[in-house]
Amino acid sequence: MEPDCKRRKTDEPRGVQSWEVLPVLSERESQEITLMPVYAAPILDKKEACRLVKEVSAVYPLGDHPHLKRVRACAALGSSHPLEMLLCLASPTDEQDEVPSLADLFPEGRVVLCGLGEPFLTRVPARPPLTRPQYEEAARHWPVSFHENKHISQAISGSLFTPLQKAAMQSHMELALQAAKRGARKGMRPVGGVVVDPASGMVLAVGHDCRNGPNPLLHAAMVCIDLVAHGQGGGAYSYKDYPACSFLQPDGSPGSSSVSSDGLPYICTGYDMYLTREPCVMCAMALVHSRIERVFYGVPSPHGALGTKYHIHRRRDLNHRYEVFRGVLEEQCRSLVDPLETSHSCGSW
Ligand SMILES: [Zn+2]
Repeated sequence: MEPDCKRRKTDEPRGVQSWEVLPVLSERESQEITLMPVYAAPILDKKEACRLVKEVSAVYPLGDHPHLKRVRACAALGSSHPLEMLLCLASPTDEQDEVPSLADLFPEGRVVLCGLGEPFLTRVPARPPLTRPQYEEAARHWPVSFHENKHISQAISGSLFTPLQKAAMQSHMELALQAAKRGARKGMRPVGGVVVDPASGMVLAVGHDCRNGPNPLLHAAMVCIDLVAHGQGGGAYSYKDYPACSFLQPDGSPGSSSVSSDGLPYICTGYDMYLTREPCVMCAMALVHSRIERVFYGVPSPHGALGTKYHIHRRRDLNHRYEVFRGVLEEQCRSLVDPLETSHSCGSW
């Protein structure tokens, strides 16, 4: 059978089916915004605003919360006063107590209170927004500054990839699906993977889960990394019994696992991996070590380590991070999953 590793022509967008590719962001980027209590007060006389900001900021600086704007306009809120001003942070226990007076908050007379109304307790975003959805939610509570990452915004809005790129993604995931099905026919768990060099469009490795074969740790992602290593003259395992597992040799010809290993380290720097299923922690860490650039998976897994249970790919305490996207041919990938095994990741733990 002709190996699957070869140049895939993606010049023409093929019929891209209905699926959406979504970024899997870090926990902090994905979570809902959190609010914290503060004391604020109306600015009754707009002409006093500049002076009040200066004086209040000197008493209660917001150095630990530079994302918070000191003043908000109230015209759109239907208020009788033009502006409101954040005075200082309140502690959560203060929410049970009576709101202090201006004299309580500024006892030393360092602020001339002229033009300032009675304080009230409100809640403002506790952390700077990291994504546009977080910013839009935060701004509903209090004005905040936002340094937008355009790449993330494009990914969230679904405009990061062109139709041509989506067609290529679909083509690659179809290969992973085929590999998963061929592996399943050999008694393996139905999970497939593909490694692609996005710079050239070359498919470098196609593999499937082999854990019921030579090694119980050979989940599909591990197999794909090992196959890339074979293509670079390394690799640890033989896939001679699994013809659906293939790789591309350095000269561009399809290889087989009979190529001897010279022990060279393998590396996936700059490469993309497509997996039919969200990988487990072991595979996600192997992807860190392999220096993968991006991972695209079809369907989440309950114990998955790239977005569901953990966010291994964005951890700041690891020395490599990679981008992750989910949803490529999601329905087709979901149809691979054995319903008896849905509680497991990578088709297992
Ligand atoms: Zn795994």
